[in-house]
Amino acid sequence: MIYDRVALIGLGLIASSMAHAMRAGGLAGRIVGHAPSAESRAAALAIGFCDEVFATAAEAVQGADLVVLCVPVGAMGSVAAEIGPHLKPGATVTDVGSVKQAVIAAVAPHLPDGVHFVPGHPIAGTEHSGPYSGFAGLFRNRWWLLTPLPGGDAAATARMRALCEAMGANVDEMEAEHHDLVLAVTSHTPHLIAYTMVGVADDLARVTDSEVVQYSAAGFRDFTRIAASDPTMWRDVFLTNKDATLEILGRFTEELFALQRAIRTGDGEMLFDYFTRTRAIRRGIIEAGQDTAAPDFGRSKAGR
Ligand code: NAP
Repeated sequence: MIYDRVALIGLGLIASSMAHAMRAGGLAGRIVGHAPSAESRAAALAIGFCDEVFATAAEAVQGADLVVLCVPVGAMGSVAAEIGPHLKPGATVTDVGSVKQAVIAAVAPHLPDGVHFVPGHPIAGTEHSGPYSGFAGLFRNRWWLLTPLPGGDAAATARMRALCEAMGANVDEMEAEHHDLVLAVTSHTPHLIAYTMVGVADDLARVTDSEVVQYSAAGFRDFTRIAASDPTMWRDVFLTNKDATLEILGRFTEELFALQRAIRTGDGEMLFDYFTRTRAIRRGIIEAGQDTAAPDFGRSKAGR
């Protein structure tokens, strides 16, 4: 056991997956939780990933050794303000938000002295949300990035790292600003592009009488999977990781113009070289064990 009492605030995909993984590994003595809706709280009990649920976050965190904030990034600050006065001295607070600088700025001021804040982000997810979407294997062989604050408690970080590793994740530590730039490249901007492409196809479908859906090929199907991700979560990601996303989008637009020019001028060599370079990146991801070469891109439930 790594933590005696764990409180999950928010009971969706990430929280329920953490609870399943902690139960499977015997990593927590007791798991309690809070979500605003009575439906989610009842689901957590019915599925059995929480031992107890509370109608308020303030009640849920009382006596907890580890508090995990699993709410949309935009809700982190108000949750921290509510729980701050109720945290046990010596407790660790972590979060799973997809953006780090904004979460740290919103949460840290509300935590009392003697409570350790270890911000984190599991690079694992699906397009599903809510308490029924979680599963124990979500974090297996995925990265969990921790962005400890300068001067933060080393023992609290080490214990949090041990929990993530015991749930099957590979842990790395980095500065929050660096995290936000890396994720803007690897996750946030690609999601925005997927949302845009599906929006364009939807406009087109009205012209082509839904052929876009009927003949949907692998490329577009993958975009639709990404673009099915939770609207609240992704709205908050773009509102809070604004600078890094705009920086990467600017670069993306420049590259797109270069490819557009190559197509217009018939510059096949430029296109071929470009696609050769990007193919090597895909191979690198497979070699790093972060995806498989399977036609479903390794996302089927087999092996979970
Ligand atoms: P989710 O399945 O939509 O669950 C969100 C949970 O937060 C729900 O239980 C919701 O309550 C609760 N909630 C919303 N507003 C709240 C508030 N003001 N106070 C307390 N609880 C509140 O979301 P998720 O996918 O688990 O994402 C949670 C966090 O993980 C986000 O910060 C996200 O950036 C991060 N994350 C997500 C992924 C991913 O792929 N999904 C990956 C890595 C990190 P109700 O159930 O009552 O509505």
